[in-house]
Amino acid sequence: MYLLEYIFLLILMLLMAGVMSFVILYARKATNILQRLLTYVFASMMTGMLIGPLIYFALPDSISTAGGAEISLVSMTVLVIPALIVFMNDVLAQRQERSRFYMQAYVAFSVIFDEILMSLVFNLVVNPQDYLNLLHSNLFSFVWTAIASYWFVFTMGLEMLITILFMLSELSSHLRVVLLTQASLMIIMPTAIMIYAWKIGTIYLSGALMTVFFIYLFEYLYRKQSMKVHLGVYVLLLLLSYGAMMAGIFFWIVMGNYTVIALAMVVNMLVYLSAALNRGWLSSGKSLYWISSKNWSFLFLLLVFVAEFFMGAVFDVIYYGASAFMQSTGIIMFSGSFISDIGIAVFDFFTFVAHISLSPWFLIMMGVEMGSLVVFKIRSTRELETRIRLGLMLAAYAVYSVFLPSFLISNPSGIPFVGWTMGIGSGGAFSLVFIVPIALTYLISGILSLLFGSRQLCSTFCTAPVMYQGTFYDSMKKFNGSSPSAKVLTRQTRKGEIVYRIVSLSVYTALILSAAVSLLDSLGYLNFYFYGTDPSYMVYLFLFGFLWYAVFITMPFLGSYGCINTGYCHWGNFNRFISRFGLFRLKVRDPMQCVSCTTKDCASACPVGNYGQPGKFIQTGEYKDSRCVGIGDCVGACPYENIFYYDIRHWIKGKLPRKP
Ligand code: SF4
Ligand code: SF4
Repeated sequence: MYLLEYIFLLILMLLMAGVMSFVILYARKATNILQRLLTYVFASMMTGMLIGPLIYFALPDSISTAGGAEISLVSMTVLVIPALIVFMNDVLAQRQERSRFYMQAYVAFSVIFDEILMSLVFNLVVNPQDYLNLLHSNLFSFVWTAIASYWFVFTMGLEMLITILFMLSELSSHLRVVLLTQASLMIIMPTAIMIYAWKIGTIYLSGALMTVFFIYLFEYLYRKQSMKVHLGVYVLLLLLSYGAMMAGIFFWIVMGNYTVIALAMVVNMLVYLSAALNRGWLSSGKSLYWISSKNWSFLFLLLVFVAEFFMGAVFDVIYYGASAFMQSTGIIMFSGSFISDIGIAVFDFFTFVAHISLSPWFLIMMGVEMGSLVVFKIRSTRELETRIRLGLMLAAYAVYSVFLPSFLISNPSGIPFVGWTMGIGSGGAFSLVFIVPIALTYLISGILSLLFGSRQLCSTFCTAPVMYQGTFYDSMKKFNGSSPSAKVLTRQTRKGEIVYRIVSLSVYTALILSAAVSLLDSLGYLNFYFYGTDPSYMVYLFLFGFLWYAVFITMPFLGSYGCINTGYCHWGNFNRFISRFGLFRLKVRDPMQCVSCTTKDCASACPVGNYGQPGKFIQTGEYKDSRCVGIGDCVGACPYENIFYYDIRHWIKGKLPRKP
């Protein structure tokens, strides 16, 4: 293909983006009969115009250039007829008002369909051999590949940018961020240009941009606590399309398949057009107070998780290589027999989800996102001790949970406290050689819980507090008191305690059983594995690679810190049990202050759900509860700065002779 021809196509692409942007902006303001007619005519003409060239290039040597032009003329005429009929009908009926839905749907369909047609034509021109082969071998692949190419991606991205620029004066700063991010993510689509540098560069760039956008969204929701209901719907649809886009990039890298990414881009464009074609829609409607809408908040958390999940998976396959990483997930092929395939499907689902949610790049991405919210929390926290603990928590996440086990130590299972996160089979199968590192892990953690309380784990070393204690997620503690099931779990009700006992007992049983089977496997007495995966390791994958996130995402229903309140984290249970006998407690400087305190703010501040502080402070001047993991929200909530932490440091200080 000659350079000039190529430049000519690029100019046509820019023209197309310009014209389609005009159609979108015109349709956005089209209210009267004539404006509606012109909108339909513009959109239909554009569609009709491209049908001729597509047939001409898709069936080379079947029709002449003139034939192609005739087909376009006929198509444009035929497509305009329905619009004319509606127009005449409106004129005769003198119907000024008409539901805008049809016009918006028609324009949205035309914009996307025209871009697909244009991309098919231009790809057939630029790369006739490959695309004709695709057309003859698999029509769907022919279409998806064209959608994933820069002819579609850049044109769509450009249209979004142009229309946003023309709508800028009508958009709030928040809407500008949301829509400009959407347009940018469309333009930096990794599938657009088949060059390795573009692919890798845009994968990391789009991942970084999406992560920054999520942080912005969390902080916006935390500060605003409400938004217009239409914007709430838009945000969910947007997250759905981002999750689909990330899943699409994952399947494209691993399987070379464009289906999901192509459909995701079409959905993303439809979502965008639902706002661009509907003037003022995003800033209209009732207010949605997300903190009191369990369903919206749950969907928000779920969709954010899906997008992050596939983003982490994409980074993992890029870093470790697609086949190496997919092999490490342990997923197995279907056998073809229906019954056994059900078991394989369940196993593959859990092992795939767990291997990605426990993988280094997912944890890094989550760490950047949640860590940023923790930094915002540090900036707004009054107490130095709490700020230091939050800083330690971030450092522990980066070094102890990610860097050491994933990038520095090749086989951490032999190292106490490092290779046995959550105190079970994260290091692999349970065997006699690991007795010492495991025993030392429990010993070290137990001693720390005796001296500093279980906050050494549940508010410092575990990865969970980084997820729970950032600004946005911490504010979700409000669900502790709003949803009935959350109240049962967080308010230490009789029912809540029964749930806690049943869950923790089931987890211990599963742990001990799987460790025993794993040991017998390693000694050669048994040969029991989950499709080749060690039972002890499988329990770890299920509890912390899947269940932990399921409990986290259902926070609007189960309340905050579900890992503590449901009792399923045996590691937290162990450390909290030990801390009962330890030194850590909350103390008040002046119990009388609590007597006269009218607000008792400390009682409603705890994300775990502890609310007995005021009573205990008045009675004994201190509060000690194994469910208190020293988060410090109550310390910060006390208007009189009356509460302080007490642990080994204060005990030693108390033993030291006082200076005269
Ligand atoms: S209960 Fe378990 S998962 Fe939750 S913070 Fe404590 S150690 Fe972490
Ligand atoms: S600790 Fe502070 S907020 Fe809580 S009851 Fe005492 S004075 Fe009130």
